[in-house]
Amino acid sequence: MKVFISFDMEGVAGIVDWSQCIPPGRPYEEGRRLLLGEVNAAIDGALAAGATEIVCNDSHGAMNNLDPELLHGQATYVSGRHKPLYMMQGLEAGADVVFMVGYHGSISGESSVLSHTYNPSVISHVTLNGARVGESGINALVALACGVPIGLITGDRQTAAEADPFLADAERVVVKESFTRFGAVNQHPEVARARIAEAARRAVERAANLRRPAIPLPATLDVHMQTADMAEVASWVRGAERTAVRTVTIGGDDPMAMFRSFVAVTYITRQSEGR
Ligand SMILES: [Zn+2]
Repeated sequence: MKVFISFDMEGVAGIVDWSQCIPPGRPYEEGRRLLLGEVNAAIDGALAAGATEIVCNDSHGAMNNLDPELLHGQATYVSGRHKPLYMMQGLEAGADVVFMVGYHGSISGESSVLSHTYNPSVISHVTLNGARVGESGINALVALACGVPIGLITGDRQTAAEADPFLADAERVVVKESFTRFGAVNQHPEVARARIAEAARRAVERAANLRRPAIPLPATLDVHMQTADMAEVASWVRGAERTAVRTVTIGGDDPMAMFRSFVAVTYITRQSEGR
């Protein structure tokens, strides 16, 4: 039983500010300790249910936020920048179930701590088959392509709600209630970790019966941006067609190709940031 964990940072209990998510400094050291606690809780739960191999993909910032030595379960650590599959790098090698830990709300949804959809300087709104989607649904394209179910998602309440249309079968752990993008009522880290471990255990036990992400194919991913410049640059990406002044559309029946186009859009549009 192999578990793939894609972890972000903004959705971890106790984290409400960018200073806790961006090095260097004391708040960041606190943030990465909180993050490690939740990732290890997910690993502990998976191991308790019989998982034999854990691959952890660091999906936040420079993507090297943890001390590899401190990961439980002798987990493999996918870290560092310029990953072709970004938040899902490593899943292409296969797994039995995917966990999404420390995820956060989309930039276009209700208030959610540190909400964004990949790049907040560029992307203003994304829909998948017409429904608002956050990073969980976009990343689910890779799980769909690999034929792997998503068994667990953790974050604030908004994160769980946005996963509903796409990840109906996933265990959800709400570790905080956001009241703004920079404030939340947080569960104590020990409580959050215990609940994540329990849900991870259930997810591994249920893995064989979990359905794949609910994304009918062919699918359409509409990516709305802040400026026309960004949409023009994005349209240079293979598979991305400019469909409005500030929108590109990525479509097709190959979810992996769609995700690769989306990743390329996030990389190339950094060239057109600034307003
Ligand atoms: Zn992040």
